[in-house]
Amino acid sequence: MANHTVLIARDGTEIPIDDSGAPIRDEKGTIQGTVLVFRDVTARRRADETSRLLASIVESSDDAIFSKDLNAIVTSWNRGAERTFGWLAKEMIGQSISAIFPPDRKDELSGIMQRIASGERIEHYQTTRRTKDGELLNVSLTISPMQDPLGRITGASVISRNITAQVRAADRLAQLNADLQRSNQVLALTNQDLERFAFIASHDLQEPLRMITAYSQLLIQSYPGQFDSKASTFVGNIVDGTTRMRELLTDLLAYTEIRNREEEPVEVVDLNLVIENVRQNLTTSIDESGAVVTADRLPVLRAYRAHLESLFQNLIGNAIKYRSGQPPRIHVSAQEVNGELRFSVSDNGIGIDSEYHQQIFEVFRRLHGRKIPGTGVGLAICQRVVERYGGRIWVESQSGQGATFLFTLPNVTIRSAGEDQ
Ligand code: ADP
Repeated sequence: MANHTVLIARDGTEIPIDDSGAPIRDEKGTIQGTVLVFRDVTARRRADETSRLLASIVESSDDAIFSKDLNAIVTSWNRGAERTFGWLAKEMIGQSISAIFPPDRKDELSGIMQRIASGERIEHYQTTRRTKDGELLNVSLTISPMQDPLGRITGASVISRNITAQVRAADRLAQLNADLQRSNQVLALTNQDLERFAFIASHDLQEPLRMITAYSQLLIQSYPGQFDSKASTFVGNIVDGTTRMRELLTDLLAYTEIRNREEEPVEVVDLNLVIENVRQNLTTSIDESGAVVTADRLPVLRAYRAHLESLFQNLIGNAIKYRSGQPPRIHVSAQEVNGELRFSVSDNGIGIDSEYHQQIFEVFRRLHGRKIPGTGVGLAICQRVVERYGGRIWVESQSGQGATFLFTLPNVTIRSAGEDQ
C-alpha cells in the first residue's frame, strides 16, 4: 500500500497505519488469499512530529546547541553553534569538540567528559571558548548526559550561551564602582582634612588672638595720652581687626561643631519655646527696629535644642538685619506640603536677587559690606543644621520684595503643628 495510508474506524477516527501482507498458498503453491497485518502507528507519528518540532526549535535557537559522544566527537551542531563559533555543521560533525577550547582550557575537556560519563548534569557553568577566528568568548554552558534506549550514556548535549557582552558590561560596572569607591574615599579624606583644618583654625587660633587683643588694649591703657593720633588709629585698627577675627572664628567653630554631634538626639524640643527664646535673645534689635515677629503654632520635635535655636536665630536675625525702610514684619510658619512638613521664615526686607539664591549659603559669603554687621557664616550654619536632620533649605525672594527662607526637617518631627502636647 501507499505510504501514510490511513484507515477509518467505525466511529470515523482516522488511524495512520503501517502494513504488511503475506500470501496464503495451498499445497500446490497457488495463492489462495493474503494475510494483511495493519499496525496502528498513531503514537509513533506523534513522536516523529514532536521530534521534528524539537529539531526546528533547536535549529532556530540563538544559543549554540550541539551534542558529542563520549570521545568528545561532535554528533550534531545547530545553526546557533555555527553563528557563535564560526564553524559550519559539516566542518564540526565528526571532529573533536576540542576545536572550540582555548589552549589554556584544554584540560577542562577531560574533566567534563568524566562528569558526563558518570551521568552528571552541569548547569550554568561559566567558562571561555574560542571561535574559528580565534576570538575568545565568555559562555554559560548547560551540559546534559544523553542515553540510549537501554539507559546507557552515549554522550552529552550542550547548550552554550554567549555571555561575552554581559561579562564585559559587568566587568566595566565593577571597574566603575571600584573607581567610584576610591574617589569617595579620597573625597571623604579631603573632607575630613578640611573639617579638621577649619576646627583647628577656629579653635587654636583663638588663643594667640586673645593675646593680641589683650596686649593692644594694655598698650592703650598703659600709655594714656602718649600716642599721637596716627598711633592711636593704628592700635584702634588692631583692636577692631582682632574683634572681627574673633567673631569669624567663633562662627566658624560653631559651624564645624554641628557635624560633631552625630549621635541621635534625645531632647524633645518645643519649637514654640524656641521661638520665644530667640525673641528674647534678639530683644535689642527687635526693639530698635520695631520688628514684629509672629509665628504659627509649631510642632514639638526630637532634635538638639541648640541646633534649632541657632537655625531660627540666624534666620530671624537676618530678617531683622536685612530690613527695608519699613519696620520688619517676620512670620514663622509650619505647613504640610506634598506630605512633608515645611517650615518658613518670611520677611518684608530688602530681598535677594535670584542670582545669589545659592551662593548665600556658602561659608563667609556676604552680599553686603561692613555697614551691616555679620560674618557670612549664619546661613551656612542653617544649611548644616537642616542637612543634619535630612532636610533641605532654600530661599524664595526677589530684590526689594522681602525674602522667605524655607526648610524641611524630615528626620525629626514627632508631633504635627497645632496638636495638643
Ligand atoms: P551674614 O548675615 O553674617 O552676612 P549669612 O550667611 O547669614 O551671613 O547671610 C549671607 C548673606 O545673605 C547676607 O550677607 C545677606 O546678603 C543675605 N541675606 C541673608 N538673609 C537675608 C534676608 N532675610 N534678606 C535679605 N538678604 C539676606
